[in-house]
Amino acid sequence: MVNKYTSPRVLFPGTINEALELAARENSPVFWSGGTAITDRPESHSTLINLPKAIISLRMINELTRTARSETGMEISSMVTLDRLASISRRILAPGIFETLTLIGSRPLRCRATLGGHIAEYFIKSKSDQSTCTHPSGYLVPLLQLLDASVEIRYLRERARRKPVSAVKRIPLTLLEGEEGLGSREIITKINIPAGGWNFVVVECLPSEDNSASPLLFQALAKVEKSVITDWRIAVMDGTGKILRNRETEAILSGHSLPLSEKDISSLENGIKGLTESWENRKKDQNTVLRLTHYFMRKVSEQY
Ligand SMILES: Cc1cc2nc3c(=O)[nH]c(=O)nc-3n(C[C@H](O)[C@H](O)[C@H](O)COP(=O)(O)OP(=O)(O)OC[C@H]3O[C@@H](n4cnc5c(N)ncnc54)[C@H](O)[C@@H]3O)c2cc1C
Repeated sequence: MVNKYTSPRVLFPGTINEALELAARENSPVFWSGGTAITDRPESHSTLINLPKAIISLRMINELTRTARSETGMEISSMVTLDRLASISRRILAPGIFETLTLIGSRPLRCRATLGGHIAEYFIKSKSDQSTCTHPSGYLVPLLQLLDASVEIRYLRERARRKPVSAVKRIPLTLLEGEEGLGSREIITKINIPAGGWNFVVVECLPSEDNSASPLLFQALAKVEKSVITDWRIAVMDGTGKILRNRETEAILSGHSLPLSEKDISSLENGIKGLTESWENRKKDQNTVLRLTHYFMRKVSEQY
């Protein structure tokens, strides 16, 4: 049997505006950042990579490769690779970023994969059926949500009887899944992580009872001032890629002094049960999250 394949059209714009204009002209364009997700084969034994018909590479766009730091936080352009991010001093990086980066795939993967591609891939996958995916995705997303990160998105705004104009929107990462989320012809250009004054972090990745191929990711942050927990946050991602977060659970301990009282610990345990209630048939995973939360709180108490 002879199969007929057509080569993809690969376009190399030099600016963001040019990339947006090319995307508007192409049928079903796909932006290529590191290409790790685009070139991933659905089955490991497959010898064929199904490439999209029109690829718009973001590689030649210099403005997408910068990082900037100020007193208010850090701004990272979307084409910064995960490996380059991991090479930034840990005193400068927001807490938990380095620890999470080292859990993502292998170093060769992180040398290609970009922060923008990592975020976009997670939200694109969350719209499709994650259970068919061969590897986990979006490990940085729950942590970035806890850190109140936002993304800058560039797109072309249509105007009546006039040429479309390039426009910018900034969306908190927690809202990227909604209606206002990432359109197929929109480009994530920057990720902004505010300096939050967090002084404690725990990131853990353990096997999940539900799907041994997709681990359970636990990320928690705390802000402690003079032995008082002024803020703490927790997110858990399970094998399906769904992020579990509950503001009510986080509110339980905010403003409480260390060491925690018996009553605080009991309320916290109830809060964690509430956070993981959708896993009612996965008692082991629920217990793992409870154990990790105790570990986190013990570590915080020991330090202050
Ligand atoms: C073998 C393997 C193991 C992996 N293991 C893990 C893991 O353990 N944990 C984990 O979290 N992830 C894992 N991943 C997923 C990995 O994190 C993503 O593949 C990677 O981050 C995607 O980045 P990229 O730059 O290569 O994106 P690309 O492959 O270039 O793009 C991915 C998607 O996002 C779109 N896109 C890219 N950039 C932008 C942009 N700037 N704006 C809008 N849309 C854009 C593309 O059009 C495409 O649809 C793994 C992947 C592989 C292949």
